[in-house]
Amino acid sequence: MCGIVAYIGDLDPKEVLIEGLKRLEYRGYDSAGVAVHDGDSVAVYKMAGRIADLERRLSQVKLGGSLGIGHTRWATHGEPNDINAHPHPDYHNKVFVVHNGIIENYLAIKKELEKRGVRFRSETDTEVISNLIALNYTGDLTEAVIRAAELMEGTFGIAVIHKDEPKKLVLARRGSPLIVGIKDGCFFGTSDVAAILPHTRDVIYLEDNDIATLTPDGYKIISRGAKTVTRLLQRIEWSLEDAQLNGYPHYMLKEIYEQPEAIFNAMRGRIDIMEGVPKLGGIVPVWEELKNCKSIILLGCGTSFYAALAGKYIFESLTNLDVDAELASEFRYRRMSFLPNTFVVALSQSGETADTLAAMREAKRKGARLLGIVNVVASSIAREAGAGIYNHAGPEIGVASTKIYTSQLVILTLLALLLGRHQTLSLTDGVRILRELETLPSKAREVLKKADLIETIAQRYHRYNNWLFLGRKYNYPTALEGALKLKEVSYIHAEGYAAGEMKHGPIALINPEMPTVAIITRDEIYEKMINNIQEVKSRRGPVIAVCNEGDEKVKEMVDEVIEVPETLPFLSPILNVIPLQLLAYHCARFLGRDIDKPRNLAKSVTVE
Ligand code: GLU
Repeated sequence: MCGIVAYIGDLDPKEVLIEGLKRLEYRGYDSAGVAVHDGDSVAVYKMAGRIADLERRLSQVKLGGSLGIGHTRWATHGEPNDINAHPHPDYHNKVFVVHNGIIENYLAIKKELEKRGVRFRSETDTEVISNLIALNYTGDLTEAVIRAAELMEGTFGIAVIHKDEPKKLVLARRGSPLIVGIKDGCFFGTSDVAAILPHTRDVIYLEDNDIATLTPDGYKIISRGAKTVTRLLQRIEWSLEDAQLNGYPHYMLKEIYEQPEAIFNAMRGRIDIMEGVPKLGGIVPVWEELKNCKSIILLGCGTSFYAALAGKYIFESLTNLDVDAELASEFRYRRMSFLPNTFVVALSQSGETADTLAAMREAKRKGARLLGIVNVVASSIAREAGAGIYNHAGPEIGVASTKIYTSQLVILTLLALLLGRHQTLSLTDGVRILRELETLPSKAREVLKKADLIETIAQRYHRYNNWLFLGRKYNYPTALEGALKLKEVSYIHAEGYAAGEMKHGPIALINPEMPTVAIITRDEIYEKMINNIQEVKSRRGPVIAVCNEGDEKVKEMVDEVIEVPETLPFLSPILNVIPLQLLAYHCARFLGRDIDKPRNLAKSVTVE
């Protein structure tokens, strides 16, 4: 999804911008561009397509100076083409803007500006920003940005330069992330730290309504009412290596293999085995209310929603709470009332998912308390929630989420167990569950040893165009997530179903051309799943089963078997999803798909 890199300092701005944009590529984009100020004038290069094309174009030109802005666009207003790509100059080519987000009142502003003689070149909402700033400019870019921001509704992270101010870069944000990077007289602006990691780890996360002015002499941040504000300077702990491939052909595969570690990191320092309780520092500020809460709503989109759904079963197993899982994009438009002391727990890898953020705000308005489970530290959701639990899983770069899903399930288990221990769960229950959790990294490693077998299965089946994924109870969300992975990266049509629902419709689809992936573990609904597999087999549907080690009964019934170690039933989704991730990955690879950047998808969906 969209990304911003901006720079002022002694290094070659062209190099810094291109290097930064390449580091943002993983987010997904459709076009890219830069504007570089050489001291006299501003040169803009932008085009639809890959950064590599932009780089080639830029290698043919000489650009000096010490100031520039760059962008990867993920179109929301106007198709992805050269003209709609950012940066966008104003009508008189004075102000240049890159923008992440959406200006909701852009049509009204556009009409107004047209009346005042402005002619627009693109179809974007962004072009109104540069023109609005230009019209409000009276010699100081920061002042003009402040005035323009007051007139804009919607979300934005912007980086702005002005032809007449070759030593000034202005950043502004509302609802879209923006970060200032600092290094000996060089200043960076970006929407994602990955873009500037080669240069610096010292950063400031801007807050909503902050406007930062960066010059070679320093930076200043002002907020509402034009007061100067101080924001915390933070040090990024992720290394550049963490954000690189390390010999794997794709980030998705690397991240699948990082799961034992990610599962471990989700628990690290969070287990008090003697007391049989988890220790979660991030929820201490709300603990008094949380421990007495009666109802929990787990919110997410996409894979995070399926984690929420799996979380519902985990909470039901461990607590007496009223628990629901909701799609954030639906939840925010519902008419709702909450039981007193309801907690809404938002799940998001990036912490920037626009629908989830909006749903949280809606819930807060109606009196719910908030918690966040996010991977990206200091992200918008983390800050909006004010309390929560970080995944600490390192960057997830593949667009299709893998390690964050399993990490989310571990964290949901810790949270549910903590609450359950304050309700009815005994010390022995607590110790037993925590001991089992501690075995999961090595059990996940066992599952990964099946990679060759799964690759062979993918080789046999990747040409089938329609797939069904079936699971029940704890593994109903696993079936949904397995189908989603396959769709996302291989573009094969797949449906995830609660296996008991099969006879109510999808059974009509079963034939020898439609493989079914059945997730069946030794739990209380094992026999029911056996029946569902029978139903598929009697209609000559091929079945690939994910079952527990040594399950002879399943082996006799099905075409392919992937065995995984046994664990507690509500923890089984953590292990069962891993083969499905690998299956999706290998099918996509055999089909020659762009695995880390599947078509039409973006890593963090920062628009509704
Ligand atoms: N709304 C802007 C556009 O369509 C920005 C999109 C983005 O965030 O990349 O150009």
